[in-house]
Amino acid sequence: MTVIQQKTQKHPLEILKVHFGYPSFRNHQEQIIHHLVNGNDALVLMPTGSGKSICYQIPAMIRNGVGIVISPLIALMQDQVDGVRQLGIRAEYLNSTLDAMESRAVQRKMLTGEIDLLYVAPERLMTSEFQQLLGQMNPALFAIDEAHCVSQWGHDFRPEYLELSILHERFPLVPRIALTATADPVTRREIVEKLRLEDARQFISSFDRPNIFYRVEVKENERAQLLHFIRTEHPKDCGIIYCLSRKRVESLAKYLQEKGLPALPYHAGLEQNLRLTHQRRFLQEEHVIMVATIAFGMGIDKPDVRFVAHMDLPKTLEGYYQETGRAGRDGQRADAWMVYSLADVVTLRRMLDASAGDEQFKRVQQRKMEAMLGFCETLRCRRQVLLAYFGEQLSTPCGFCDICSGQVDSRDGTIAAQKALSCVYRTGQRFGAAYLTDVLLGKDDERIRSFGHDRISTFGIGNELTEREWKSVFRQLVAAGLLSIDMEGRGGFRLSPASRPVLRGEQKFELRNDPAPVKREKTVKPRRETTEFSDDPICAGLWEKLRALRLDIARKQSIPPFIVFHDSTLREMINCLPRSLEEMGEISGVGQKKLELYGELFLSLIRTHSPRTFTE
Ligand code: ADP
Ligand code: ZN
Repeated sequence: MTVIQQKTQKHPLEILKVHFGYPSFRNHQEQIIHHLVNGNDALVLMPTGSGKSICYQIPAMIRNGVGIVISPLIALMQDQVDGVRQLGIRAEYLNSTLDAMESRAVQRKMLTGEIDLLYVAPERLMTSEFQQLLGQMNPALFAIDEAHCVSQWGHDFRPEYLELSILHERFPLVPRIALTATADPVTRREIVEKLRLEDARQFISSFDRPNIFYRVEVKENERAQLLHFIRTEHPKDCGIIYCLSRKRVESLAKYLQEKGLPALPYHAGLEQNLRLTHQRRFLQEEHVIMVATIAFGMGIDKPDVRFVAHMDLPKTLEGYYQETGRAGRDGQRADAWMVYSLADVVTLRRMLDASAGDEQFKRVQQRKMEAMLGFCETLRCRRQVLLAYFGEQLSTPCGFCDICSGQVDSRDGTIAAQKALSCVYRTGQRFGAAYLTDVLLGKDDERIRSFGHDRISTFGIGNELTEREWKSVFRQLVAAGLLSIDMEGRGGFRLSPASRPVLRGEQKFELRNDPAPVKREKTVKPRRETTEFSDDPICAGLWEKLRALRLDIARKQSIPPFIVFHDSTLREMINCLPRSLEEMGEISGVGQKKLELYGELFLSLIRTHSPRTFTE
């Protein structure tokens, strides 16, 4: 048996309590930590916000040497390191933002064993200088964060990640831990193969995020719908709004600003300084709405993002899940809200057809897009559909999504589907929803007459539905795969084989009823503002004071407020009203270091606010 060299004999649970201030481990954290401390490799799949970092932070504090954390998130390394230092962990980072002198200072500390954790960008790790440095020291472990970046099929591919397999060859005895929140089996297989993790034990947690409410609306007037959603449900909250293009980001951010909302744009085309400023404001302020392309978000671990909105359909459910996963990392209720339309489907198909890549690539992407559509149009519990996609079965409906809460209902739509499908057929399989709807409604139209479509059997047979309802029927037929979109031609519909049983009456077709469009913006009144503890003025006052103190402390150090304390920790202070440092230390999220740094400040604020408690 090999003897493991350790810096400390402290038990992981003790470290969790002392440094992090948490009473117990979650999920597989404890098993993973032991596995690593004992020198073994691990692949960790856990959803966003479930606590992946502790899985390598604690082993790095126990094992001899420096724990090397490889992360693609250069812009966030400073925050990550600030956050860890607040816990009393000795951490540094190395990336292109440091000058030569600063880099050398960090490297010196690595050699003298003055740090436990080093965050490094993959391109830096691979330089010969750094490799040489690694040879002179004793890495405690390698943590490969955002490991899905190694996957070429994925959404965040980083070519530098492919070279990380070298670590295994050079340092076969140093344990490696690869972590990701991307769950699909294809990506997982690729991580194992590319990073040479065949012998690593896999720790897979449930991907359910029970505090997120999933909701999908049909696009009618997207901006009015969004505004209604924000004003009625999140008037004071932080949120992220995703759009597909830079142009849409810019114009939506401007629109929201005009409506008086604190919206900021973020996309890869923005000048770098501005991008960083916006990111910083999002992290450090308590009420900012980021309007962004998918360039924004990876590694953003702001715990109190209360909603993630999608104005355009994401390309895949993996992407959707990652993006929505940025809401509610603190475990408190959060919303994943999306609007979509048939036009989104067409746009996505166009992008897909125009994209580079071979047929197989396109086929995979096509299937992923269909899964995305299926999620939008489902009549089953959204969480069941989502988790099933990631290979997890949820036996009963969740009760916490729009479908479960009865916001979406359905009817038998077989006859409507037959009419629509046969109209596609009789007009020659080359028209889109608008034209077909006109034919079904028997519109008096020059174009229809010129094609002779006023004389076919489906002309004017659809008066039982409105124009809006027919468009919904066509959208659902596309989503269900009964119609396909002709991309070589002008984007008209074609019948696919799956339409035959419905046309022949052998199979029913269920239609969902699209909810009525939201009222026009003018009639929308903001909901009565709900603040924390709003039914108890004394607590509400204390809440505001604690937050102000937190903000003050954060500003002085230029760090985000949540790095000082999470909302949930402040809330617990109000509920427990600690009277001594000792009692303060019992609160979840108050470790020893933070107790030293901030305990007295918060304690005296609580004392002056509620003096009665202290004079019993
Ligand atoms: P991930 O990297 O998986 O998205 P993090 O490591 O950032 O998640 O953790 C998310 C949040 O959960 C952090 O604020 C972290 O401090 C907190 N957390 C992690 N483990 C625990 C635990 N055992 N008990 C309480 N909170 C925890
Ligand atoms: Zn549900």
